[in-house]
Amino acid sequence: MSLRTLESTGDLTGKTVLVRSDFNVPLSNGAIADDGRIRASLPTLEYLIRAGAAVVVMSHLGRPDGVVDSAWSLEPVAQRLGQLLTVPVHFARDTVGPDADARRRSLVPGEVLVLENLRFDPRETSKVETERTEFATQLTTGVDLLVSDGFGVVHRKHASVFDAARIVPSAAGLLVEAETEILHRLTTDTERPYTVVLGGSKVSDKLGVIEYLLPRVDRLLIGGGMVFTFLAAQGHRVGASLCEVDRLDTVRDYLDTARELGVEVVLPTDIVVASAFAADAEFTVASSDTMEDTPFGAAGRGLDIGPETSRRFADLVRSSRTVFWNGPMGVFEMAAFASGTRAVATALTEMDGLGVVGGGDSAAAVRSLGFPDASFGHISTGGGASLEFLEGKSLPGLEVLGW
Ligand code: ADP
Ligand code: MG
Repeated sequence: MSLRTLESTGDLTGKTVLVRSDFNVPLSNGAIADDGRIRASLPTLEYLIRAGAAVVVMSHLGRPDGVVDSAWSLEPVAQRLGQLLTVPVHFARDTVGPDADARRRSLVPGEVLVLENLRFDPRETSKVETERTEFATQLTTGVDLLVSDGFGVVHRKHASVFDAARIVPSAAGLLVEAETEILHRLTTDTERPYTVVLGGSKVSDKLGVIEYLLPRVDRLLIGGGMVFTFLAAQGHRVGASLCEVDRLDTVRDYLDTARELGVEVVLPTDIVVASAFAADAEFTVASSDTMEDTPFGAAGRGLDIGPETSRRFADLVRSSRTVFWNGPMGVFEMAAFASGTRAVATALTEMDGLGVVGGGDSAAAVRSLGFPDASFGHISTGGGASLEFLEGKSLPGLEVLGW
């Protein structure tokens, strides 16, 4: 671990610094629905402003697939940034065209220029290295330093993330530095007991994480839609719940490995079984080994962990010194099935030690349930990136920064 950090970059007075942020915010009717990612970029931008640099910021937004599409313009993000920062924030209508060029040249130290959406240009995400290099070269023209601060994209080999950092001197921003440090702590020298809580919809999304973390943890708690593949692997009937039958053997292997390693795998003892996948569905609590013995029979589907399991999971989280939690315990978007997720989130805010929430939907879940970000040890801003890190994969956007 020797990530190049901002501190190592020397005097930045009067320098032009290009920052890759992750402004991929959720939009609703063209308005920013949650500005969390913009706020997460502020410490680095404020640091550079204080250091006397002229700051150019670039990001992608959505998936415009290489064509200019005003629905995905970063202009609303630039406006929001202007409200959050106390310095002038300008906006360029292109990334490497005449507008960006002219505005960068006239940018005054201490001011910020936001470029238009990187993904309006197909070269940003091209699989062809020469195409990406060409775009990255244009992006870094007139730039003294590249600061990589979009943690949500460090697992991508994209022009602005990977190639640009090879063309000009580069360093990690404060967000990338903090995320990397915390996730690294989850893989080495963790304080014990170390508990990992996994949920969410698909077990196949989390196989890599289970495999990498299993030898490193004391307990693995499983809830969410993925638990039914585990229950089915143990021979239980799970009705119409989510279940990936092609993963039953893999899951059995994990259960065997856990036993050999002495890792405690904790599965729910009770499940909230509903008549349908709907916010107003009828529901009841069933024992996890008799899920089909409800009035809904084999049509019943598990949409949350039950109250007994919620208490047990909460106790185990509270008595841990390190917790990584990824994936909601139930369909938290529907109030009737949010209790398990709320119980785990509450316990995480009460524990002593390092409690980390990772995953896009998990972060959204704790926010929508009203928990302030600061009540957790850390909420990772990068869903896919944090999972790939915890699968032990090498991330191109970190490797290029010396990691
Ligand atoms: P993250 O983005 O945090 O990694 P996932 O994308 O894996 O999380 O999973 C989130 C989704 O899992 C949520 O939309 C939630 O409704 C769904 N989910 C959780 N439990 C269940 C369940 N029992 N049945 C169906 N979907 C579930
Ligand atoms: Mg998700």
